[in-house]
Amino acid sequence: MKPINRRTFSKKLSQGLAGTALVAGMPLACGMQNDKIKKKLGVALVGLGTYSTYELAPSLQETKHCQLAGIVTGSPEKEKVWAEKYNIPKENVYNYENFDRIVNNPAIDIVYVVLPNSMHADFCIRAAKAGKHVICEKPMAVSVTECDAIIQACEKANVKLSVGYRLHSEPYTQEVKRYAKEKPFGAIQYVSADAAYFSRSNPEQWRLNRKLSGGGALMNMGVYAIQSVIYGTGMNPISVKAQEFSTRPDYFKDTDETITAQFEFETGAIGNIMTSHSANINRLFVTSEKGWLELNPANNYGPLSGRTSGGKEIKFPHERQQKLQMDDFSKHILMGTTNIVPGEMGKRDMIIVEAIYQSIKEGGKTIPLDLGTMGIVS
Ligand code: NAD
Repeated sequence: MKPINRRTFSKKLSQGLAGTALVAGMPLACGMQNDKIKKKLGVALVGLGTYSTYELAPSLQETKHCQLAGIVTGSPEKEKVWAEKYNIPKENVYNYENFDRIVNNPAIDIVYVVLPNSMHADFCIRAAKAGKHVICEKPMAVSVTECDAIIQACEKANVKLSVGYRLHSEPYTQEVKRYAKEKPFGAIQYVSADAAYFSRSNPEQWRLNRKLSGGGALMNMGVYAIQSVIYGTGMNPISVKAQEFSTRPDYFKDTDETITAQFEFETGAIGNIMTSHSANINRLFVTSEKGWLELNPANNYGPLSGRTSGGKEIKFPHERQQKLQMDDFSKHILMGTTNIVPGEMGKRDMIIVEAIYQSIKEGGKTIPLDLGTMGIVS
């Protein structure tokens, strides 16, 4: 292959070819100034359900470094509606069968998989094989084995991988992480995180079908609570034990309804989570030697709200979290900034999810965890 010199490289960039080259995962634009990058990365959404329709597509109209460029859907009637609404050319519209042809489409740089959980691995791996950067919705997959397969496929294809943990890009969560790092109230003693909502809609929905969801409240809202205790302390837990509660067995025939779990950390700090599809709560509380911090709500689409002991309000202007998330991942691709939500973070959470299910199965037994700093991004 002919080596590329600095002049040729700059010329290619000014011709708008940066994104095409980046598809192969080449860190061509690393270290470049923000304003020198002209091209917005093209994003294809796979699965046009509630989250894509009401959060991701509108957010991608506000992003600076990427834009909605393609769709992948199993519903032919959605093709026309979306194409017209978002001005998507015909050649950027795919279904689940012809999706792999996306390999030949230079307008698509990032594939964002927003399907039921059991379909994540298949589409993420197909996207990586097509040479596209990948964002996988949470939970990353339905098993640690599947997470490994996604990570390996992205490494092999030399493409970037992220998970749809939008909160890492928003300022309230970043403030919690700053408190965990700088410890203005001294050593953290206890973290409590609750992530739950009351579900009463369609009993046929995929979230209540283990084959499609991989599990119930824990796989859905539970991953937010797990995330919260980790960024609330700045550490991975060293053990977990868990309990399951069922009050509406006729509705939750196949998936977990309510789960509580307790974590130990190497500093002696303790964490407690509650996740449920039978209660409305959305809160993170971190207490330390000399004070506390609370977000309530802590993980919805915002605006979030926070306070600390001593009556101090935590307040930031509200922006769409998904807009911030998509621009962060695009900057990682375009400029080589840190990937603040790498695939390893999604895999780590799935290790914890599997340990929680194991503990419940074994009557609440304490399960040791050997995670080191896996998935911790400072
Ligand atoms: P949804 O039910 O609204 O949409 C699912 C989409 O998948 C639909 O377009 C549906 O047609 C398609 N689909 C394809 N095969 C299907 C099948 N066999 N059964 C059911 N649907 C099928 O779900 P959603 O709320 O958009 O969630 C999609 C993914 O996004 C999930 O992984 C979920 O956990 C995640 N999510 C993340 C957030 C977040 O805040 N990060 C919020 C909501 C959902």
